Amino acid sequence: MEQPKVPYALNSKKVADATREWLLRRGVKVEQIAELVLLLQNKYFPNLTKEECIHNVERVLSKREVQNAILTGIQLDILCEQELLIPELQDMIKHDESLYGVDEILAFSILNVYGSIGFTNYGYVDKLKAGILEQLNDKSLGPVNTFLDDIVGAVAAAASSRIAHRKQAEREQAKGE
Ligand code: MG
Repeated sequence: MEQPKVPYALNSKKVADATREWLLRRGVKVEQIAELVLLLQNKYFPNLTKEECIHNVERVLSKREVQNAILTGIQLDILCEQELLIPELQDMIKHDESLYGVDEILAFSILNVYGSIGFTNYGYVDKLKAGILEQLNDKSLGPVNTFLDDIVGAVAAAASSRIAHRKQAEREQAKGE
């Protein structure tokens, strides 16, 4: 007997859960992203704690646009590992061709969420290539992370921007402005 077709309906909770699950499966923990945030922001906010950074990364990860970018990027990395892409695209993604650039464009959709300072923070985190980013960029380890490294950098940059906006609001409130 034919199964009745279930009409498509977006399940936001499932998308959010899948995002967390796939980040972990690809070796990225929220804590490691928070470490990048701390590195980016502790010169501006010396009292910033790791817990605050974790909280801000969590808030970024709760955004739909961010989840969509993460899942799309991870999916393309996986398809590339499985050699399932159009050969010309396969070659470019596999070799992280610097003139490809769509990995960065996808990451930019994450930066947009917290305004233009996200781009400044992204440029900085991308240059540092510290912590988890160093690991994701190590091509000798096997997995393809052409999309994931930009995505993780962008999540850290967006969380940093969120902190900067919040801290400024706190300062102004404290002054009674
Ligand atoms: Mg890349």
